Amino acid sequence: MSIDPSVAFKARAQVFIEPNGKEPCLGGQLREQAVWVDESICIGCRYCAHVATNTFVIEPDLGRSRAIRQDGDSTELIQEAIGTCPVNCIHWVPFEQLDDLRARLDALDLQDLGKLPQVSRRNQRRVK
Ligand code: SF4
Repeated sequence: MSIDPSVAFKARAQVFIEPNGKEPCLGGQLREQAVWVDESICIGCRYCAHVATNTFVIEPDLGRSRAIRQDGDSTELIQEAIGTCPVNCIHWVPFEQLDDLRARLDALDLQDLGKLPQVSRRNQRRVK
């Protein structure tokens, strides 16, 4: 049996595969979904950040948790962190939804959890 040597010039060097969210660079392991914190519900208790330390941090300006990376901890550890959340505001979402969810959060005027509420102008006048 002989092989036609011209076959080597017809084969594609690299097969392009559409990203599907299962790439290791997106999840550290083959994971189909991304972890996302609904910061509008988060109460800043920090439980999740103490469990999955490479995934969640408390955002310094608002005092609410945020998932800063998708490949920092194992799926099991992230799931454990999700289980500690007292208000169930951590979710698995498709990777494609992350930008949209982030944009919706940015459009909200969230209260800073790390500072006392601002005193209204009317009350400031009374104090003087
Ligand atoms: S456990 Fe839930 S409520 Fe507490 S900081 Fe994390 S996301 Fe926020």
